[in-house]
Amino acid sequence: MVRMYDVLVVGGGVVGCSVARELSRFSLRTAVLEKELDVGLGTSCRNSGVLHAGFNYAPGSTRALLDVQGNRMMDDLCRDLKVKIKRIGKLTVAFDDEEVAELHRLKEQGEVNGVPGLELVGHDRMQTIQHGVEGVLALYSPSSSIISPYGLTIGLAENALANGAHFHLGQRVTSIASQERGGWAVTTASGDRFSAAVLVNAAGLFAADVCRMAGITEHEIYPCRGEYYVLDRRLDGIVKTLVYPVPKKNSPGLGIHLTPTVDGNLLVGPSAEYLDDPEDCACSRDVMKDLRREAHHLMPEIHVTDYIRSFSGIRAKQTPPSVGGNKDFVVEDRKDVKGFINLLGIESPGLTSAPAIAAMVRAMVEHHLPLAPNPTFNPVRPGSALLFSDRPAEERADLIAQNPDYGEIICRCEKITKQEIIDAVRNPLGARTMVSIKYRARASMGRCQGGFCIPRIVRILRNEFGWSTADFLKRSTSSPLFVGTVRPGGEGTER
Ligand SMILES: Cc1cc2nc3c(=O)[nH]c(=O)nc-3n(C[C@H](O)[C@H](O)[C@H](O)COP(=O)(O)OP(=O)(O)OC[C@H]3O[C@@H](n4cnc5c(N)ncnc54)[C@H](O)[C@@H]3O)c2cc1C
Repeated sequence: MVRMYDVLVVGGGVVGCSVARELSRFSLRTAVLEKELDVGLGTSCRNSGVLHAGFNYAPGSTRALLDVQGNRMMDDLCRDLKVKIKRIGKLTVAFDDEEVAELHRLKEQGEVNGVPGLELVGHDRMQTIQHGVEGVLALYSPSSSIISPYGLTIGLAENALANGAHFHLGQRVTSIASQERGGWAVTTASGDRFSAAVLVNAAGLFAADVCRMAGITEHEIYPCRGEYYVLDRRLDGIVKTLVYPVPKKNSPGLGIHLTPTVDGNLLVGPSAEYLDDPEDCACSRDVMKDLRREAHHLMPEIHVTDYIRSFSGIRAKQTPPSVGGNKDFVVEDRKDVKGFINLLGIESPGLTSAPAIAAMVRAMVEHHLPLAPNPTFNPVRPGSALLFSDRPAEERADLIAQNPDYGEIICRCEKITKQEIIDAVRNPLGARTMVSIKYRARASMGRCQGGFCIPRIVRILRNEFGWSTADFLKRSTSSPLFVGTVRPGGEGTER
């Protein structure tokens, strides 16, 4: 059987989910094909979670345009999708004359790009914005902000789904062929077949591979890993504003810095290291050592016990290590390959730009298909952006009175209740990995990193949802939570 759609989006990262959500405003049959068992498991949930203002990119570039537009769209989007966002601003700090000159250039560039409120601030004003920052001059950008990257990606996907888009998870696209009568025939690793008039390539690190499947051979992606440390929430509130160094010429990233997250952690990173394997998300001992040294230099009060976790994300670069720097985003409706919309090289600021990329894709789709409004489109996702523990006391008491599962804390570090775990398991996309639960409920993201709550979550899944040992996957089918054999009588019994 061939499943027929108007538009197929390959890749369920923040870009693919934004496109699906934008297209769900119209009466189109749209589907996302994602190789992983959930959305956002590529780069989209492995980044700094910063909404960039847009002064770092050359005027007239697609990146500059989409970043500024995307940033502007985020308040309404986050309100509708119940996503955490904090408009905390950013200081880019100069230490010498060369960096001061660069700050002046960045301010002018930002103003040409339409970045609002840019201001050069001296040492005293710097200190009032963020106590303890040293430097001779800083560029203050009030529209730089922080956001929950998982919240945004999942929110976009769930809202797209609620408005009629389809999500096929665990479906790796392996071949794309143009059809005689027009449009695309798509096959996945499981042998399932799909067809559509328009194909949108949002495959991130694998976008050049998807291009090659369609006969487009001129692109190459060079994976470049960025590693991070996550610091304990003990330090919440110490860093009130983003503080970045002046970017170095031809550097693959914006430099190592401290980034507060919307949930109250601090991130140290990211490093920048080219590698061959686009999925090698390991963290390396040498980089971790560098990050600890850098963190201590930036903030001496960081204690060795504040480091609670490490992770890495991989940039989809179009420039090889010998060239360095960045190239502009490719956002194109291929003239030579009809019905192929190509989103490639979407590295930073792709998270910020995602909604604006989606609006651009919508205009491209309109050249191929009539776009009649979806009469039942609802931009609002039900629920709350707040965790149960962040809600007012009265509301919490009411909820516990109605449902005692709100009264049982499962994740002690983050104060996540049993009902929040149950809601995460019942997610509309049907994603069933431990990471899916973590990204939705925040359980196991605290100081003990799941040491306390994972056995309790396992018990809930086993007793209330009937999961068997083989159902427990950390992230994918190749990462089972349990290995080995089960003791006789060990499965399915409460202990
Ligand atoms: C270290 C780091 C820090 C960053 N910090 C920021 C930041 O602070 N602010 C910002 O704006 N941006 C930031 N970014 C950039 C941002 O994370 C990316 O631009 C964005 O996540 C790209 O989204 P995407 O959907 O294109 O890619 P992805 O999230 O990688 O999604 C692509 C999806 O396609 C799927 N896929 C691939 N091949 C196939 C196939 N054959 N079949 C089916 N599915 C397939 C993958 O599984 C994946 O889920 C950062 C990136 C990195 C690496």
